[in-house]
Amino acid sequence: MQKLSWVEEELSALKAEGRYVPIRTIESAQGSWVTIGGKKVLNMCSNNYLGFANHPETKKAAIEAIEEYGVGAGAVRSIAGTDEIHAKLEEKIAEFKHMEAALVYQGGLLANVGTIPALVGKDDVIFSEELNHASIIDGTRLSSAKRIVYKHLSVEDLEKQIRENRSSFKKAIVITDGVFSMDGDIAPLPEITEVAEKNDVMVYVDDAHGEGVLGDHGRGIVNYFHLEDRVDIEMGTFSKALGSMGGFVAGSSDLIDLLKQKSRPFLFSSALNPADAAAVLKAIEILENDDSLIKKLWHNSDLLKKSLSDIGYNTGHSKTPITPVIIGDEKKTVDLSKRLYDEKDVFASPIVYPTVPKGTARIRLMPSAVHTEQDIKIAVDAFADLGKKLHII
Ligand SMILES: *Cc1c(COP(=O)(O)O)cnc(C)c1O
Repeated sequence: MQKLSWVEEELSALKAEGRYVPIRTIESAQGSWVTIGGKKVLNMCSNNYLGFANHPETKKAAIEAIEEYGVGAGAVRSIAGTDEIHAKLEEKIAEFKHMEAALVYQGGLLANVGTIPALVGKDDVIFSEELNHASIIDGTRLSSAKRIVYKHLSVEDLEKQIRENRSSFKKAIVITDGVFSMDGDIAPLPEITEVAEKNDVMVYVDDAHGEGVLGDHGRGIVNYFHLEDRVDIEMGTFSKALGSMGGFVAGSSDLIDLLKQKSRPFLFSSALNPADAAAVLKAIEILENDDSLIKKLWHNSDLLKKSLSDIGYNTGHSKTPITPVIIGDEKKTVDLSKRLYDEKDVFASPIVYPTVPKGTARIRLMPSAVHTEQDIKIAVDAFADLGKKLHII
């Protein structure tokens, strides 16, 4: 057992630093209220923005796909795992995103980890936004390209880094989250694209939190800024607003064709299950025809932000439904979250260092289209009462 003693030491260190995250098990379907430990709690921290994770039509589509195609895809995409439903979904994504072609992956993380190393290698450079998602950082590491980080939202710093470094490398790419998940702010994509075009730098955007939220009928950040013919690679996930699981990249037909020959999760990991693909396809079809869920999401998020700031909370600079309630002090934040759960049946996780910088600890609230105004009021009243008791407001 000696050789495994480090495991307990590492766990103890995490606990001592207050960085050990207990995992809650949910006993019901995703939704505005969920059951945990036999208790119904108001769910304020899922990414199920539009309710598609438990929507009658997406469920029906998944069940029908199981009846038709079974529960597993059977192989990797390149051997015997490409089903008709994958091809249909790829066509639908390209059409929805106004891009030439798309490639479906088994997850958003895998889309980043699989695509970035297929685009750049050891002679190349990646200009990476400071607050990019972990999966972009992992994809960057796997690519062996040089990584140069530029400051959060700073096109000026990006331009400076490009000017100083671009000529030392063959290919270059700028990679950024579209919507930043901890603050809800938005990358200045038009300006980034302009700087990139002038300097022969490809543009790659991760739209995980923009899908189903921004743009016409939820087409995402590229559509929101009308940059369809100027952003080279648009990556996204099916696990947030689209309610299921999987990920994709969209771009030119040639680029997608090349990824099918080179991208390792496509070649070496089995295909997305048919039911997941069918559920996503249905969610996109619903969005194309009807944007009322998106309107409801924005209505709830505006109401939540305004109500919290009216009672004295700092909700940061979010431009999207992501609502950070910034407390600052780590311990107070963890305390507030625990008391919200124990005393008010409000489930809202604390987010502390190192996920966010020291001194900016927060509770990140995720309103959705399936919350009612009454749900939002319950959350706000709970924050009001406990905020006063804990001397936060
Ligand atoms: C959630 C997320 C991912 C990963 O997506 P999954 O489908 O959950 O693997 C990638 N990038 C960003 C910015 C995300 O927020």
